Amino acid sequence: GRSKYPYPPQKAPTASTRSLMTPCCIALGSNLNGPESQVLSAMRALDALPETDIIAHSSLYLSQPQGPQDQPPFINAVSLMHTTLDPVSLLLALQAIEQQMGRIKTRHWGERVIDLDLIFYGQRQVSNADPALTVPHPHALERDFVVLPLLEIAPDWQLPNGDYLSAHMPQCTSHDLVKLT
Ligand code: ADP
Ligand code: MG
Repeated sequence: GRSKYPYPPQKAPTASTRSLMTPCCIALGSNLNGPESQVLSAMRALDALPETDIIAHSSLYLSQPQGPQDQPPFINAVSLMHTTLDPVSLLLALQAIEQQMGRIKTRHWGERVIDLDLIFYGQRQVSNADPALTVPHPHALERDFVVLPLLEIAPDWQLPNGDYLSAHMPQCTSHDLVKLT
């Protein structure tokens, strides 16, 4: 991360290491234990990831839950980063943050203190069995709470097939998304 601890000292990226960095998008979501502060502290944890420079964090968005309706609304956001971590290492780092923040397994699409999903890893497609990892995230393009925050910070993002993400916005399911100021 760029704004991280003074120790251990980090080498500034050189021209050659910078060229190995891949732009990636992470979707953040929370609907438990102070969701706004949960998402903000997850952003701080992303800021501190090794081998990774944060480019931008989106605004926070309020969305209505998908799946079970008897749960609180969600706070969502997207973070854009450049990283030299490979996709599986990045997933494991995201899962470590989820664990540190006290995520407990509940029902499918249920309530959680923090969910960190790897949405895009450059324009690469990844399908890994163990740990399970599918990139692009299989539901990303249907979710207004992923696509809109991402377009806020990366309006010209392109999919593996070269399509602009912005072209998919009309196909998103509405979760009554509200951008918070
Ligand atoms: P969800 O995010 O769908 O609510 P979880 O966060 O509990 O579900 O993740 C379930 C599994 O999804 C994890 O074990 C993880 O290995 C797998 N997974 C597959 N692809 C991805 C991805 N792109 N980002 C995050 N997790 C993924
Ligand atoms: Mg997840």
